[in-house]
Amino acid sequence: MGCTIETQGTERILIDYGLAASRPPRYPSPSPHVNNAIITHAHIDHIGMAPWLVGHHNAKLHATPLVADLSGIMWRDTYKVSSIEGYPLTWDKRDIDDALDSWQTHDHGEAFELDGWNCTLHLAGHVPGASMVELRKEDLTILWTGDIDTRNSPNVLGAKPIKCDILVMEATYAARDHNDRLEEEKRLVERVQEIRSRGGTAIIPSFASGRGQDIIKILYENDPSLNVHYDGMGTRISQIWIDNPSYLSDPSAFERAYRWSKRVRGKSDRFKALEADVIVTTSGMLDGGPAIWYLNRLRHDSANAIFLTGYQADRSGGRSLLDTGMLPIFGKMTKIDLEIDRFDLSNHAGKTELIQFALDCKPKHLVLFHTPDEDVDDFARSFGETPPFQIIIPENGRDTVIDTDA
Ligand SMILES: [Zn+2]
Ligand SMILES: [Zn+2]
Repeated sequence: MGCTIETQGTERILIDYGLAASRPPRYPSPSPHVNNAIITHAHIDHIGMAPWLVGHHNAKLHATPLVADLSGIMWRDTYKVSSIEGYPLTWDKRDIDDALDSWQTHDHGEAFELDGWNCTLHLAGHVPGASMVELRKEDLTILWTGDIDTRNSPNVLGAKPIKCDILVMEATYAARDHNDRLEEEKRLVERVQEIRSRGGTAIIPSFASGRGQDIIKILYENDPSLNVHYDGMGTRISQIWIDNPSYLSDPSAFERAYRWSKRVRGKSDRFKALEADVIVTTSGMLDGGPAIWYLNRLRHDSANAIFLTGYQADRSGGRSLLDTGMLPIFGKMTKIDLEIDRFDLSNHAGKTELIQFALDCKPKHLVLFHTPDEDVDDFARSFGETPPFQIIIPENGRDTVIDTDA
């Protein structure tokens, strides 16, 4: 993920520069020279290539303070995983240090000048610290959504529409609506209670940045009698959230929930966690992390269960488990005979919310990105025979020219 924007009278600017954390990882095309890049949030598909950018172009990176604080963990983890798995990476440890030094941070709502643009970052929902980017010059306003959710979620408020001429919008969920969030949260708590009452442990593989923290808060607020252990990179990310309270919708409630969970800090904590009602841990797609260690032990008792709470990409461990009931555990395909349930706790806006958001921004041009190829045409058609704006579906790796006089 990444896109440069050029107009008459402004310098070229880059928004996001990430890599797809597939196996092997997929990298974007090399960015042309830029002096500045704005990073919407710290998920690896938006931030993962920023060290390369700083190493090659000496670019400055711009984001909210929370994103800057999270970046080091994300880059070091990517570096570690690629070394362990033997995947080539186009940047190294020195680039991480340079990238950490290159941050210029901006709070939501605070305007700053960059390369001929007047820029403002706005609340994007999705995860705490995530931004939409508003770029303004005399005759043109561009709104770049990054990943958005217009709904409130456990730890962050939803994004609000902003009037613009060009709206560049993600549409991950172009093809469907979500289940009611509160209903899903209630169902999750009930299912966890059911597993506890039959003497089992529910393992909830969760992304380190966003989903894990949401689940900790949901469980704490609905049933504080649960014995919940929290393991993996998400615990370090939670600390950084707590250090940046202004990006959370209710920072003291999150901190209470986090302190209530039993954080796993070492091997002996991990053995204790096997007796928990719930283990919340990485990786969210069962591609490694403590989740594999736990599953290797929990798989022998059918009272236990696996609750998946996020998207499971092709060729991920979670996808293999859903399709074949098998999971690679320490290099060996292993049958997992545990009950599996799935919960829709997505932090992306669903189809209906996306349509409403686009209409409310009243753009002249709508550019769709971060959208599954197979869904994008249908989604474009949902604005009717004569949409109120020009709809543009850019092709990856190609330039897209927008005629703002049209
Ligand atoms: Zn994201
Ligand atoms: Zn994304």
